[in-house]
Amino acid sequence: MSTVTYIGLGSNLGDSKQLLADAVQQLKQFGAVKVSKLYRSPPMGPQDQPYYFNAVAQLVTALAPLALLDELQKIENESGRVRLRHWGERTLDLDLILYGEENIQNERLTVPHVGMMERDFVLVPLLDLDASLQVNGQQIKDSDVLKHTTLTVLADESWVNI
Ligand code: ATP
Ligand code: MG
Ligand code: MG
Repeated sequence: MSTVTYIGLGSNLGDSKQLLADAVQQLKQFGAVKVSKLYRSPPMGPQDQPYYFNAVAQLVTALAPLALLDELQKIENESGRVRLRHWGERTLDLDLILYGEENIQNERLTVPHVGMMERDFVLVPLLDLDASLQVNGQQIKDSDVLKHTTLTVLADESWVNI
């Protein structure tokens, strides 16, 4: 049985667009993949770091949540993930945003992702993939965060070949 999952991708070190595109290619091992547009967003946390490249991928997969997290962390590490400080600059961040409609809470995983409803760089790309997506009964498109978004579109969905 497969589940519709959403994975948030972010990078602000190295060749960010290429790093995100390579990560999307890797996700194809685990099921059918679609991607959002590619965005640029101002950094969260420390402000003395470069802008981020962000996107969201939809992955329809048979992997269980923790098995999927293992694979995401493997891709982060294989990309030579460097993380210098909390919410600081990094080559690649892959967060599990949604796993079907499941609520998951354990040592390694909180799903829906704990920060998602406050982050325009997650919500806007999610809406590219499903304009009527709901989280815990709430329509994402009605979120207040979307009223003053700070994102710039860098490329449409064709930024990566899948
Ligand atoms: P944030 O989670 O606020 O976006 P971050 O992505 O920089 O911050 P990481 O350093 O990538 O944080 O991850 C720290 C830990 O978060 C990981 O070791 C992982 O076990 C845990 N974690 C909990 N929930 C999730 C999730 N939904 N997706 C990815 N990691 C998660
Ligand atoms: Mg993150
Ligand atoms: Mg992370």
